[in-house]
Amino acid sequence: MNRDGRSRTRTRAYAAGALALLAFATACGDNGGGAAPAGTKAASAAPQPSGGGGTPVAAATTPGAAPAGGDAAAWAKWNLKPLAPAPAPPADKPIKLERTGTVPVFSDVKTTDKVVFITIDDGAEKDPKFVEMLTDLKVPITMFLTKDIVKNDYGYFKPLQALGNHIQNHTVTHPVMSKLPQDKQKSEICEDQAALTQQYGTAPLLFRPPFGDGANTPTLNNSVQQCGPRAIVLWRESMQIHDMQYQAGDKKLKPGDIILAHFRGPKELKGATMTQMFADLLARIQEQGFSVARLDDYIQPPAS
Ligand SMILES: [Zn+2]
Repeated sequence: MNRDGRSRTRTRAYAAGALALLAFATACGDNGGGAAPAGTKAASAAPQPSGGGGTPVAAATTPGAAPAGGDAAAWAKWNLKPLAPAPAPPADKPIKLERTGTVPVFSDVKTTDKVVFITIDDGAEKDPKFVEMLTDLKVPITMFLTKDIVKNDYGYFKPLQALGNHIQNHTVTHPVMSKLPQDKQKSEICEDQAALTQQYGTAPLLFRPPFGDGANTPTLNNSVQQCGPRAIVLWRESMQIHDMQYQAGDKKLKPGDIILAHFRGPKELKGATMTQMFADLLARIQEQGFSVARLDDYIQPPAS
């Protein structure tokens, strides 16, 4: 599967980046089970902005506003029912990070709040409609970005960051980390850390290994420690095209679950767009009665 079709959505010259991207696995975090379920239900709604010709809704542009729920018109524009607003962030954060030592590995957050957290990985698809969608809906996300996949357009992610969404570390070339010697692990993490810090003005606090591979090995933990991130973040559900793969046998979201999704376009999504995939993700969350909270609101950073 290649990625060259996605450049239709933008007018920039993509040739070099598209060629480079041919080398990357597309099933980033799916542990080999990432093939989309064939023939699952058609998208219930094909979200297309209704009217306005792509102009963002002026009333929905306040950065840092409480996630979700407020602007019914914005949700209707994307053919969605509003998610319930997330509860106030806990004063006592369930995850407390330390400045030194072994970094914790987690795939969910201990909470009784009926919230889940959305993470979006790699950065291949750079669909301007997705920026418009998040600007409208204010759903919080966390982005784990891979340098060689985003370096052809670091700027794409800046308006997403300006909405309050943090950018985190996902290596330089998206390798299978457990197959690398420690010095190579370190260069993968430390060089992504340096590039993302320079581009986005803030150092990633979290790291996600490609495919989740090696997360619980002492070697990778040590490599992460030496590059700056203070936690390794995995996931409980993986968004495909219209539905999620669940690790839990009952196929239900649980409070505090972390969901993995990807910046993917029609080439990877059997013709569906990034915004259609994301709308289906929100619909799956909404129909189970959850809201989406900001992961950072449940994490206490290390004391400086
Ligand atoms: Zn990935």
